[in-house]
Amino acid sequence: MKTRAARAWLLCLALTLGACASVPLAAPREDTESLRYNIAYTHDPTPRLDVEVFLPRKFPREFLFRQPGRVESLTAVDEAGTRFELFPRNGQVEVPEGARVLRYHYPLAASAQQGGRHLFGGMGEGDAWHVAGKAYLLTPSRVPPGLRVDLTVSGTEPLLPWKPDASGVYHLRGEDLIDAGFHAFGGRRCEAHVGASVLEVALLGRFTHLSDAEICAWLEQAGREVITVRKRFPYPRVTVRVVPVPGEDTPGVFGMVQWSSPPSISILVGQDATAASFARDWVAIHEMLHLTHPTLLPRVAWLTEGLATYYTELARARSGRQTAQQAWQELTKGFARGQAAAGSRTMKAVVAQEHDFQGLYWSGAFFALHLDVELRRVTHGRARLEDVLELLATRGPTASLEGFGAAVDTVAGQPLFDALLARHLPVPAFSELGPLLETLGVRIDPGGVKLHAAPDSGLREAMDGGRTPDDAG
Ligand SMILES: [Zn+2]
Repeated sequence: MKTRAARAWLLCLALTLGACASVPLAAPREDTESLRYNIAYTHDPTPRLDVEVFLPRKFPREFLFRQPGRVESLTAVDEAGTRFELFPRNGQVEVPEGARVLRYHYPLAASAQQGGRHLFGGMGEGDAWHVAGKAYLLTPSRVPPGLRVDLTVSGTEPLLPWKPDASGVYHLRGEDLIDAGFHAFGGRRCEAHVGASVLEVALLGRFTHLSDAEICAWLEQAGREVITVRKRFPYPRVTVRVVPVPGEDTPGVFGMVQWSSPPSISILVGQDATAASFARDWVAIHEMLHLTHPTLLPRVAWLTEGLATYYTELARARSGRQTAQQAWQELTKGFARGQAAAGSRTMKAVVAQEHDFQGLYWSGAFFALHLDVELRRVTHGRARLEDVLELLATRGPTASLEGFGAAVDTVAGQPLFDALLARHLPVPAFSELGPLLETLGVRIDPGGVKLHAAPDSGLREAMDGGRTPDDAG
């Protein structure tokens, strides 16, 4: 269990670390010609994607596989029909002057030298495949402002982060190529509905015990738990890919969000997992809770992971999936793991070490808890950390750390964020843990956590007890 949990943490971390690389440029559309991708799936002789890229005239010549690895050569054809063979270097390709078409094959089932079974590079079985757009799509190194992209898929049923038009064409903005999210080709489909929102799910392989309906019910439950934190599900449509892991019975083995627009989620599920084991799963809800906050640019992994980690426990208590006592037990156990990883290092030092996932996630979660408590204290319970997420959602899909702090101060009605952060960063991580738990009435006994009356136990009960009916939205 330990190694599995650690692997899940690690993968989840890898996901956020890989995300949000560039700021999309907003500019008026200038070029009437679009960049066009025709993607054809074939399994003859082995599963692969045959990709054709049609370039507008006078298009920039620098192209890039943003996650390089599996494409060894490409063919370019110019207007006169002359063919050139090109070899990517570190994923970079310079196309010849006048090139109008690029063609290459992307192997979905790769040899060990090509990276083998890999969530980004490609994994699957039969005719059901998972791959990250950034691995197989050759994209302009610098996306020209206003670029339009048309994309088609043939030979299989795809599940991409975006919705195609009635004739099956995906009309994208150039910036959609910067993080193209997770893609599925083939497999089965199910849908989960959360309020007016839909989760479109691709099931990419066989499960020993789980039916497709049980998997979709599990994702629907996680989606419903998101709306114990946000007033409504944050996106009208989100795609989720579920990939079995042979030899595993853990329900959520790994999970990742990619910051495509809208974000796309992929979850690795133990092939031998049972529906009953979903009750204790935290991976699906953790990934979906990443939808509740804006993409932080530049990336602030400790804050986004801290928010998702903190709310994973509260949301599962608010939905009734775990008791309040269990939620605080999980939080305090996590803080203890974080503290063990942090040792005597300051929070600033801990969160600078991105591979130290226990330290980073749990010091972030502890800060989120303290921030939530302070917001409730200074507003006499009228405001809470969720209100910051609601406010940020009105300000667009991305935010800076400064913007996040400003939203906290707006909700608090007074300066709060910078001062709290300045209290935490320069001192050993978790320094304030003992006093904070004491004032909330959370006591760690040898037999487990005990909740008791204390100066701020009313705040604690408001945190783990769900929304009051008048603001259930
Ligand atoms: Zn996460």
